[in-house]
Amino acid sequence: MKKLKLHWQILIAFILAIVFGLLFPNHVKYVSWMGDLFLRGLKMVIIPLILSSIISGITNIGTAENLGRIGFKTLIYYILTSTLAIITGLLFVNFIKPGVGADLGLSQTIDGLGASRESFGGTMLNIVPTNIFAAFVENKMLSIIFFAVLFGFFITQTKNKHRIFLTDLFNSIFDVMLKITMFVIKFTPLGIFGIIAKVVSEHSNLSELGTRMGIYMATVFIGLVVHSFITLPLLLKFIGKVNPLKHFNAVKTALITAFSTSSSSATLPLTIDAVENNSGVSNKITSFTLPLGATVNMDGTALYELVAAMFIAQAYGIHLSITAQIIAVFTALLASIGAAGIPMAGLVMITIVLSAIGLPLEGVGLILAVDRILDMFRTAVNVWSDTCGAVIIAKTEGEKLKV
Ligand code: ASP
Repeated sequence: MKKLKLHWQILIAFILAIVFGLLFPNHVKYVSWMGDLFLRGLKMVIIPLILSSIISGITNIGTAENLGRIGFKTLIYYILTSTLAIITGLLFVNFIKPGVGADLGLSQTIDGLGASRESFGGTMLNIVPTNIFAAFVENKMLSIIFFAVLFGFFITQTKNKHRIFLTDLFNSIFDVMLKITMFVIKFTPLGIFGIIAKVVSEHSNLSELGTRMGIYMATVFIGLVVHSFITLPLLLKFIGKVNPLKHFNAVKTALITAFSTSSSSATLPLTIDAVENNSGVSNKITSFTLPLGATVNMDGTALYELVAAMFIAQAYGIHLSITAQIIAVFTALLASIGAAGIPMAGLVMITIVLSAIGLPLEGVGLILAVDRILDMFRTAVNVWSDTCGAVIIAKTEGEKLKV
């Protein structure tokens, strides 16, 4: 019998999970452990995967000149697409005005809000770890990436004997990590079944969320759709000269996983797999751009930050001047860069935007109820943009792709 392709298995698991979550919400506890186990497996590989991937990526890019060029393109792509996403959100939130006339019933408190009140300068400073092993233990992704980039770069600066040995070593470690990752990925359908059944059983009262929240969600959603299905495909077509539909098909397993797990970092192994094996981007480019993108490039989150902040302003009846809106755009970009690739990270980062434009932090209570659902959509968009970036950069480097 021919084995069913992984993305079909995932899609079937996804649909079955929705049915299961709706029909047997009380029995979800018997299957949710599969989701937990799957996430544990993914989390287990993230740090060694990111570390070995970035270091081997940089050593393979080789010369400082190449690295500078690819790094520069990557950065430009990340900032450009995130800013385009934010502007799309800004247009829709000003046009639809989801918060105007909203009923305020704010009382909830949010875990982790206190921790994020740190200034943006402080967050940037913390990227340089005082103890790299503590950074590993505490999952400080930006610090880990920072160290990996430095380590990789300075391998290329050592004398031949060391450079060749370390390059081989990290390539080998990366190879092993990919193998372990592929092993975990085999269990994606079961994992997604557990995760989605749980999410559905916890949100079975969707209609209760009310129309205001519905309009707010629709605003974020429309913005995300426009960005994913118009803006990014245009970039793919005209800058990358690739067929957006083919590329979408190539990476859809990663997108469904991003949607289900709400975590760009947890999805990273599948993203690398899809972009490399299906879209045909070289390991040299994916191993550098994708781990970076999973933490830094979040178009969906950026758009969401802006719309959510504007929604809160509208709901409080606070008029934001053009200057305040420009500050909101800028801080939404920074918040998306700073957000970790884990579920609900964007919700915590929104305090940066709110405090920058003088909105009450309690406003977060307003968007809390629907955040988990929006998180799924924005994470899928985050990962979609990462894959588009890798393809576009590979194309501009003259690579021949399969899409
Ligand atoms: N969950 C998102 C991600 O991992 C981040 C966010 O909360 O916006 O990409």
